[in-house]
This record gives sequence, structure tokens and C-alpha cells, in this order.
Amino acid sequence: MAAMPVDDIDMDHAVSNSEPLKMESLLDHLVEITGHRDHDLLDISVMSALINMVGVSEARALELFQTRGELMVRPRVWIAAGKVYTMDNEFISSDVGEPIVAYPSLVTCIAQRKSRYEEVRTDGHRSLWVPIWQNDKVSTCLEIVHDKPFSMHTLQVMEGILSVYRNYQSLLEYSERDSLTGLLNRKTFDERFARLANSKLNEPADKNDRRQAHENKSQWLAVVDIDHFKRVNDVFGHLYGDEVLILVANILRASFRAQDRIFRFGGEEFVILLRATTLEDAHMVFERFRMNVEKHHFPQVGQITVSLGFAAITPETPVVILGHADQALYHAKETGRNRVCHYDDLVKKGVIDLGKQNESSVEIFF
Ligand code: GH3
Ligand code: MG
Ligand code: MG
Repeated sequence: MAAMPVDDIDMDHAVSNSEPLKMESLLDHLVEITGHRDHDLLDISVMSALINMVGVSEARALELFQTRGELMVRPRVWIAAGKVYTMDNEFISSDVGEPIVAYPSLVTCIAQRKSRYEEVRTDGHRSLWVPIWQNDKVSTCLEIVHDKPFSMHTLQVMEGILSVYRNYQSLLEYSERDSLTGLLNRKTFDERFARLANSKLNEPADKNDRRQAHENKSQWLAVVDIDHFKRVNDVFGHLYGDEVLILVANILRASFRAQDRIFRFGGEEFVILLRATTLEDAHMVFERFRMNVEKHHFPQVGQITVSLGFAAITPETPVVILGHADQALYHAKETGRNRVCHYDDLVKKGVIDLGKQNESSVEIFF
């Protein structure tokens, strides 16, 4: 994984485990924590608060997710020796994580449904594992490394900071999702995809990227639009239209892997980010999704089809990449609908005019 130091943190204010914890400092940290609208920055501010107030030496935020029924773990942000590291931008990251069995203490902690679990490591340091339980699910776990046991008072302060983190994280997740389908919303897509412009696609390849290039793997962006959706509303009414949107969202969730990302882009339009896959596989999974929709029986409405256009995520600007996927979608619509079209393929065949960018079926603005 490519780790990127993003900032130095202020170690001058770090207090030792035994010093009293100051109320002003705690309030400053709470203001900082609740001032963010971004998961990475939220993670960084919580871990900085723990490092400064509680005097720990190292902390990591790990992301937990399911892939084909297996629970996987991937570090999202970590702080060590005063430096902050974050994952690559999710639109270019090839890191698919490790199975949770690579983290035995975390397995024990989650299996026993504990709110924290301390491990004494072979190097003499202690790791405190803190899963952030949201109802009965964990999608984030912190690992806090320290060298002597925490006092009761320190643990209480830490628990307070983590409760604010838990509540705030759930608010943040709520604001990132579309209320009808539960998919990530357009605002989230715009924010995350716009960051591509500032990310490191043009920088030298690390080991992962080289392996990916060798295997001809790439990240892919697809735009999906339901065919003749207006008819569904006109014939069956808006409520049935909404039901179709919910069911298509379910088919989307079932058709892609946990490391892929699915957004509701607009009314009946969706965007998919497909991670680290060959062109052949991308074609296969998009085609499989198209067929899953085609063969699904929608109550009352019957059969629905979708058109899909996709393009590779290249060092070009986000607007250009989305424009490519959209041109391919436009072509799929023009040539009969219920089709999957690949932008480069259409350029090679000469059916897309490279200079012509204005034939668009979705609105693009950042
Ligand atoms: P095409 O195959 O060309 O995509 O045809 P279409 O009828 O799907 O085309 P168009 O994009 O013009 O129509 C989309 C319709 O989706 C228009 C709007 O009424 C409906 N729509 C947008 N958002 C919602 C929603 O949240 N719920 C429902 N029920 N309908 C929606
Ligand atoms: Mg549309
Ligand atoms: Mg449509």
C-alpha cells in the first residue's frame, strides 16, 4: 500500500499518561473533531486528540468490510512518530485489504463483542483495539499503541472522546447517503471524485501500482441509466417508480464487490467505481449486472433494463473521465438500450468523435 505522510502533528502538547488531562485541551479537540466533513480528517483529529491528551505513541484507524462473505481489514489512516499517513485516494487505490485473520486480537475482540481489548505485543508495547460499534456492526476499529497500562481516569477520557467520534461518524455516514436507496449520494461522489485531480496518479508507481500495471489492471468508472424509466412513473405511478429504484439499488449492491463503490448520481442514474480489475473482468461484471437487472421480475412493473457506459480512470481530469463514461452511455442509449459500452472501444471503432463532448445524457458539474 502507498502510504502518504500528510502532516506533522503537534507533539509539544502531548501529555504523559500520569499528567492531569486539561479541560480546555479536551474542548479544543472536540471542536476540531466535530469540525470535519470527511472521514479521513475525522479519523486524524480523533487520533491526534488521543495522542496529545492520553500520550500514546502510535494509532491507526482500520476499515472493516465484507468481500465475498469474508471480513477484510484495511488501514485507512495512521499516525506514528508524529507523522500522519493516509490511504491513497479511493478512486486510484488498488489496496483490497487483508482477511481479518491477519489480525488475531481484532478477531477475538469482535467475536467477544468487546468495546476494547488490550494485547501485550512481543516487542513489549501494548495495543489497545477499539472497535467502533454502530448498533451491532463494526466498520471502523482503532488500534492505539502505548507502552504502559492506562489509568482508569485516562481510559474514561478516552471513552468520552471515542463516544463523540462514534456519534459523529454515524452522522457523517448518514449525510453521505441517499435516503431512498441507501447508496452513497451525488454530493459524496462529487467530493470524492473531485479529489482525483489532486491525487497521485501521475507520481511514480509503487510496488502495488507496478503489479497492477503488469496485470493490466485499472480502476473503472461506469454510469448507469434505467431505460424508459419515465414510462414506469407514467404507467404505474411514482411509488412504483421509487420501488424500482430501491430494487435496482439492491441488485447493484449484490452485483459488485465491497471494495467497489456505488453512488446514486441522480434520479434514475447511478455511478459505479470498480477497483483494480482488467478490462475483460470489468466488461464481465458490468455485463453480469445488466443481465441481473434484465432477468429480475419487478413486482407489478415486470421487466426493466439498464444501459451502462464505462471508461478507465486515467490521469485525465475527473470531468473528462466522467464525460467519457457518459459518452459511452449515450451511445448505448442511441443503439438500442439494454447494453454495456466501453468508451475506448467506441473510439477505436471510430463511432465516438474524440472532439465531440457535448452529447451528454447526464449533467456533469463539480
Ligand atoms: P431513457 O431510456 O432515455 O433513459 O428514458 P427515461 O424515460 O429513463 O429518460 P429520462 O431520464 O428523461 O427520465 C427519467 C425519469 O426519472 C424522469 C423522472 O420523472 C424520473 N425520476 C427521477 N427521480 C425519480 C425518483 O426519485 N423517483 C421516481 N419515481 N422517479 C424519478
Ligand atoms: Mg436519466
Ligand atoms: Mg433513463
